[in-house]
Amino acid sequence: METNIVTRFAPSPTGYLHIGGLRTALFNYLYARANGGKFLLRIEDTDKARNSNEAKEAILRAFNWMGLDYDGEVIYQSERFLIYQHYIELLLKEGKAYYCYMSKEELEDLRESQKARGETPRYDNRYRNFQGTPPEGIKPVVRIKAPLEGEISFEDGVKGRISIDAKEIDDFIIARSDGSPTYNFVVAIDDSLMEVTDIIRGDDHLSNTPKQILIYQALNFKIPKFFHVPMILNPQGHKLSKRDGAMNVMEYQSMGYLPQALLNFLIRLGWSYGDQEIFSKEEMLKLFNPKDLNTAPSAYNQEKLLWLNSYYLKNLTNDNINALLPLYNEKIPSQKTQDMLYTELKERSKTLQEFVALLRECLLPISVYDEKMKNKLQTSENIHLLKELIIYFKAIKKPIDSTKAAEIELESFASFQGIKPKSFFMLLRFALLGKSGGVSIAPLLAVLEKEEILMRLKNALAILDIT
Ligand code: GLU
Repeated sequence: METNIVTRFAPSPTGYLHIGGLRTALFNYLYARANGGKFLLRIEDTDKARNSNEAKEAILRAFNWMGLDYDGEVIYQSERFLIYQHYIELLLKEGKAYYCYMSKEELEDLRESQKARGETPRYDNRYRNFQGTPPEGIKPVVRIKAPLEGEISFEDGVKGRISIDAKEIDDFIIARSDGSPTYNFVVAIDDSLMEVTDIIRGDDHLSNTPKQILIYQALNFKIPKFFHVPMILNPQGHKLSKRDGAMNVMEYQSMGYLPQALLNFLIRLGWSYGDQEIFSKEEMLKLFNPKDLNTAPSAYNQEKLLWLNSYYLKNLTNDNINALLPLYNEKIPSQKTQDMLYTELKERSKTLQEFVALLRECLLPISVYDEKMKNKLQTSENIHLLKELIIYFKAIKKPIDSTKAAEIELESFASFQGIKPKSFFMLLRFALLGKSGGVSIAPLLAVLEKEEILMRLKNALAILDIT
């Protein structure tokens, strides 16, 4: 067990939280929780033009849904400008940062000429040691004094040793001309002030890390450990699109996924423990260690998500399911319906949406009849049998209140007619559900009121009897 671990998740609310972000959050959460540490949430909302309140709320809602609890209050970067300003001034005072009066046009010209010479555009340090009178009418930016030579290196927990030549990093801007601090600067300040010890994030941030390290060094802050996790790709090896999973996490809820299935799915995208696939949250907490994060990108596999979801769905109790039905605008059905149908509905569904659809199929009047089945069943024997079934069910006095009772009635009808019980099941299925497939007939008969059964039999008769 590691001690004093502090991790964080730091989403930018410029779009919805998608599964890549959620996976990052999960890894950080697990590492902190598994070690009795702290897991913090920081919303990186400095870009006023691109932020949306809706996206902020969606992040919090997703956390709540996933059961990812964070410590303390949410930290909003938009409320911390004075703090950033303090550190900018400090760096200026200590001579570790300086004002640069280069106009946008000058910078553009410099870039163009460097490109023309086949060089990588970079700031030429012209104000690094400037002592003169600043040009008039220019609001300066603040640049950090980056080292002119040597190496910037760090040990990444996933990628191994990363070393870059200091020449690759120029004196980058830490405060724009309007005074607002820049991205890499605020990330480093906040991670230090929040005392974050370990940063697990997508490897799209790998190239930002050397710049952040320079900020830590300039301020004598302790450098955290970094773990840069490879991206989640689609099965074709490309960036995830909305179609293959890059959508708002909350859409998974509308589609009928369970949070425990999604968490289990996510942990396996980039982390493994032998070939084990199912991990309860307790097991995740026991087994997760960022040292075991995979170095290769992982592939989003929809089939696997469905498989996990059906696994967790089967393990829900009736009460668990009842608690979730309102999310799908479904009322809690009678105790009898729960007892008779839930187990089978769980077996037959991969998502809660499918579960609810099957439940509705059982309880609501039939809206569409399967055309092929109808054509096949349109025989005089079937019409005769339907009429007989109506007579038979009308005559039943005792309520059919169990699967067993329904089976007995079906057998007795068959023997009365001198036919095999199975021989009219397709007909009965057509009458009760309007299609092949769906739940078993006996429990359905036990759930439906006698009037409803008779009504469905009569409707089927009207449909099949075209004479
Ligand atoms: N705000 C950044 C993002 O949403 C993450 C910053 C970080 O983890 O360092 O991609």
